[in-house]
Amino acid sequence: SNRAVLGPLVGSIDQGTSSTRFLVFNAKTAELLSHHQVEIKQKFPKEGWVEQDPKEILQSVYECVEKTCEKLNQLNIDITNIKAIGVSNQRETTVVWDKTTGEPLYDAIVWLDLRTQPTVERLLKRLPGKNKSFYKSRTGLPLSTYFSAVKLRWLLDNVEEIRQAVRDGRAMFGTIDSWLIWSLTGGKNGGVHCTDVTNASRTMLFNIHSLEWDSELCHFFDVPMEILPKVRSSSEIYGLMKSGALTGVPISGCLGDQSAALVGQMCFKDGQAKNTYGTGCFLLCNTGQKPVLSEHGLLTTVAYKLGRDKPVCYALEGSVAIAGAVVRWLRDNLGIVKSSGEVEKLAAEVGTSYGCYFVPAFSGLYAPYWEPSARGIICGLTQFTNKNHIAFAALEAVCFQTREILDAMNKDCGIPLSELQVDGGMTNNKILMQLQADILCIPVVKPSMPETTALGAAMAAGAAEGVGVWSLNPGDLTAVTWERFEPQINPEESEYRYARWKKAVMKSMGWET
Ligand code: ADP
Repeated sequence: SNRAVLGPLVGSIDQGTSSTRFLVFNAKTAELLSHHQVEIKQKFPKEGWVEQDPKEILQSVYECVEKTCEKLNQLNIDITNIKAIGVSNQRETTVVWDKTTGEPLYDAIVWLDLRTQPTVERLLKRLPGKNKSFYKSRTGLPLSTYFSAVKLRWLLDNVEEIRQAVRDGRAMFGTIDSWLIWSLTGGKNGGVHCTDVTNASRTMLFNIHSLEWDSELCHFFDVPMEILPKVRSSSEIYGLMKSGALTGVPISGCLGDQSAALVGQMCFKDGQAKNTYGTGCFLLCNTGQKPVLSEHGLLTTVAYKLGRDKPVCYALEGSVAIAGAVVRWLRDNLGIVKSSGEVEKLAAEVGTSYGCYFVPAFSGLYAPYWEPSARGIICGLTQFTNKNHIAFAALEAVCFQTREILDAMNKDCGIPLSELQVDGGMTNNKILMQLQADILCIPVVKPSMPETTALGAAMAAGAAEGVGVWSLNPGDLTAVTWERFEPQINPEESEYRYARWKKAVMKSMGWET
């Protein structure tokens, strides 16, 4: 068949908060040839705690790789055409494991987890003026429960087995990328302990200017530097797959999921931005080779460094903790929908929230507020309000939160965005996309292939030195087309609803004091 002359292919592991996927792309056109997806369990052992099993995550990767290869075989596509594998991952989520057994020493503490609130308060007291932004010029980040360093501090304070492993020189720390790459390249039998600059920039132990672990920050968090992975660029050969159908294939791309999406959307120029709607919502704007410090509650983060000798690019980032997670909550906690997709039908039936506002501050509020004391509220209820209105308000909340970070971004950048490129699991929801255009008053543009996170990691892997099957020329990606959503309501209506939303946000704050 003509499938035999496809040319080089690149695989991509996309390890997200809600699921793991493996996808295989044609390395020139970006055509998606096959994929497999497995949902990941989230454990909520106590209020505010969110954990995942690192072994389950690793198993899900192996399962997705094997199943995708089986599907390719059925399509008559030769898997020996897969020349490289990229990794993109949920960021900040923290794992500590034993390098002699290959076993995790505790469950992964997921980025959303709030257990470190007391840890943050304790650390804050040691910063001059209790200024949570004290290290922002160096790390790009405020002190928050969100970043890996505080999660690692909690593990060292609370898990004796981890302390013992550190004393014995058996402990390794990593974010999910490190855990996966170490395990996939051989684990206890010679696995490579590394991370890339984008993931490192989310730990709060990393100096985003020198691109090295920062000894003063490690001292501040009292983290032993010997347990940290080696920091590499986002595009180079880290090691080879040691088992399974793709044994011997190099792993040569690694990007935190939001950076991967920026690359997958081909936002390579200064001022180009994308918003990804997954469990949370993350708007990143490329600021080129200079890190821009926000005055409006945004983070400064490493966008990518596509090769050892290539320049580093930075991004301004607006992070929203809860986006798709609010839909999952409607499904799992309220049971008003059976699947995430059903929320669209519920919302469409009414086409309005009927004055109901839903602030899903389940994990406090991230950008632009960074307010851990906020908790979720649903307000504006009347006798008339029903589950349809609540579903609509949940979707609208995602759009309002995006508007808040877009406003902050426009203030920091000076030049307002004229349209918004989007991706992520929630963008399958057309009602959400139209609402987003209405609330932003600018067009929303969605690629036909929504798996841009996976695509970005695949591009980084395919472009790596020693692989060289992907040129990173945006013009080559002929398989990608775009769908546009134009604003349809008048701006006054939009402003009115946005003002009401802000009122609701004020009511959500200071709840947990
Ligand atoms: P992540 O990368 O964080 O794992 P995904 O990009 O896979 O997230 O998106 C999954 C999230 O999107 C889930 O929280 C799910 O509830 C939500 N979601 C998926 N499909 C829809 C839909 N059609 N409408 C609304 N939300 C959706």
